[in-house]
Amino acid sequence: MTTASAALPAKNAEQLLKSVFGYEHFRGRQQAIIETVSGGSNALVLMPTGGGKSLCYQVPALMRHGTAVVVSPLIALMRDQVEALTHNGVAAAVLNSSLDAATRQRTEKRLLAGELDLVYVAPERLLRPSMLSLLERIDLALFAIDEAHCVSQWGHDFRPEYLQLDVIARRFPSVPRIALTATADERTRGEIAQRLLPDGGETFIDSFDRPNIRYTVGIKQNARRQLLAFIRSRHAGHSGIVYCFSRKRAEDTARFLADQGFDALPYHAGLDTGTRQAHQDRFIKEDGLIICATIAFGMGIDKPDVRFVAHLDLPKSIESYYQETGRAGRDGLPADAWMVYGLSDVVQIRQLLTQSSAPEAQQKLERERLEALLAYSEHAGCRRPPLLGYLGENHPGECGNCDNCLNPPDTWDATEAARMALSCVYRTGQRFGATHLVDVLLGKDSERVRQHGHDRVSTFGIGRDIDRRTWHSVLRQLLAAGHLQPDPEGHGGLRLSEQCRELLRGEAAIEMRHDPTPAAKTSRKATTPLDVDTESTEWLALKTWRLETARAEEVPPYVIFHDATLAAILDARPATLEELATVSGVGEHKLKRYGEQVLEVLAELN
Ligand code: ADP
Ligand code: ZN
Repeated sequence: MTTASAALPAKNAEQLLKSVFGYEHFRGRQQAIIETVSGGSNALVLMPTGGGKSLCYQVPALMRHGTAVVVSPLIALMRDQVEALTHNGVAAAVLNSSLDAATRQRTEKRLLAGELDLVYVAPERLLRPSMLSLLERIDLALFAIDEAHCVSQWGHDFRPEYLQLDVIARRFPSVPRIALTATADERTRGEIAQRLLPDGGETFIDSFDRPNIRYTVGIKQNARRQLLAFIRSRHAGHSGIVYCFSRKRAEDTARFLADQGFDALPYHAGLDTGTRQAHQDRFIKEDGLIICATIAFGMGIDKPDVRFVAHLDLPKSIESYYQETGRAGRDGLPADAWMVYGLSDVVQIRQLLTQSSAPEAQQKLERERLEALLAYSEHAGCRRPPLLGYLGENHPGECGNCDNCLNPPDTWDATEAARMALSCVYRTGQRFGATHLVDVLLGKDSERVRQHGHDRVSTFGIGRDIDRRTWHSVLRQLLAAGHLQPDPEGHGGLRLSEQCRELLRGEAAIEMRHDPTPAAKTSRKATTPLDVDTESTEWLALKTWRLETARAEEVPPYVIFHDATLAAILDARPATLEELATVSGVGEHKLKRYGEQVLEVLAELN
C-alpha cells in the first residue's frame, strides 16, 4: 500500500483535502499557506493549538514532487501523525531513536526508492551527516519544522539541536521550508525567522482566539468539591486534564476522583518513566479518562477530544495558562477551561517570586507575567480581551462564551472596606495572615487575638458589618492588585506596599467584584460538545465499533474517526458508500477501509 506522490495524479489542494482527508473547506489561512509552500516559497506559520497546522505541510507534501521531511521534537507526536496519515492512505514513516535497526533500514530504503510522501524525523537524527547525505540523494518536496519555537533560547521548550537546524537552509537552499508554532510572541517569531528562514519567507498569523473554549475562573472554597461538582455537572464521561501545583496534590486529586467513581490517574515527574508512559497511553487511547497532573504533562499531547482543562491552583503565568488551557477542544467542539484560586494561591505565588534567584531582568518578566494572570483572574469583564491582549491581539469582548459574559459579576464600592483592611494590617504590625486579620476586623474574642493585644487596637471590630467571606475577598483583591504583599520571610503574613498609600489616606477609590457563589456555577447546563444524543443506542453502537477497531489496530480511537465525524455520520444516516463519502472526515482511503463496516453498524440499528 504505497502511494508515493509520484504515483498520484497531480491534484489541486481542494481535491486533496476532500479525497485524502475527507474535509470540505480549508480553515483560516490554510489555503494561502498551502499555495505559498506548494509554489516553492518559504512560510512562517503562527496558529493556535488546534488551528490545523498539520495540513499546511501535509497537503503541499502531496502536491509537490518528492518526499516532505517533517522535523518534530516529540516521538509520541510523530507516531500519532504517521498513524493518522497512514489511515488516510498516505505513505508516511518515522525516523527516530525509538526504532530498531531493521525498521530504520527498511524506512531508509523506502526513502531512497522515493516511496514516501512524508518522513518524520527527530532533529538529532536529521543532523547526522549520514542522514543529511541520504537526503541529498533523493527528491525533496519541502522541509516542515514543527514546534519551531524550540529554537528560542528564551522559551520554555528550548532544544539545543533546533539551533543547528540552520543547516537545512545552507544545504538545501532550493527546497521550500515551512516553520510552524503555536507560540505567538514577537521575540520568538524573530528568532525562528532568523535561524530557520534566513532567506526570507511569508509570515502567516492566525487569530489566537479559541472560540470553542469557555473560560471560567472561580474562587476556591473547597477546591476538590468544586472540581467534582464541575465534572459531574458538565463533563461526566469526558476526557480531561486537571492541573495541580504539586506532585502530592496531583496524586491526592486522582485518588479523590477515583474514589468518586471516575477513571482518574496521576501524572508527574515523581513517577517512574514506565508508569508515566502507561498513564499517558491510556489517556490517549481511552475515552473519558481524567489525568491529574503537574505541568510535566501536556507537551506533545495532541489528543483532539480533551473536553476540559481544570486548574486547581494558579498556573505560573498567563502564558502557561493559555498553553495549558489550549489543550482542551483541539477538535473545535465545545470545551471548558475551568480554574479556581484563592487568597493563599496569590500569597504562595507572590512568595515564590520574591524568593526567586533569577537575574533581575528575568524576575521582572516573571512578575509581569504573574501580574497579567492575576489581573485576568480578577477581571470583571469578558475574559478574552485580557487573555488575548497579552498575546498582542485585540479582542472586542462580549464573547458570550466566558463566565463573565454568561453571568456578569456585580461590583461594589469597596473603598471604605479597603481602608479598614489596610489600616488593620498596619495596626497589627504588618506580619499577620488573612485569617488573623479578619478575626481582628470582626472583633473576634479569641485567645490568639488577646495574646497579641489586638483586642486593643483601633481596628478591632470595625468590620463587623461585613461577613468573613467578603473580608477574605477584599484581602485577596487587594493582594492581587498589589496593594498588599506577602512578607518576605514566607510566614504568610501580609504587609502594605508602597502603592496602597492613596487608598489608605482616602485619596483614591476602589471597585471590587462580588465573588461568584459556588451554587450559581454548578447550576449551569452540561456541555454537549456534539449535536447528538450521547446516550443513544446509535451513538454507543458507533463508538463501540470504533473502540474495537482501534484496539485491533493498536491506535487511538480518533485515528479511526474523530467524534465529529461519527456525529456527522449519525446525522447523515448514509445507506450507501456514495452517501457516506460525502460526510466530513471520511476520505477515500477510510471509505474503502471502513465504509462497509460502518454501513453494517448503521443497518443493524434500523
Ligand atoms: P495543530 O497542529 O494546529 O494543533 P492539527 O493540525 O492537529 O492542529 O488540527 C487540529 C484538528 O483540526 C485536527 O483534528 C484536524 O483533523 C482538524 N482540521 C484541520 N484542518 C481542518 C479542515 N480544513 N477541516 C476540518 N478539520 C480540520
Ligand atoms: Zn466573554
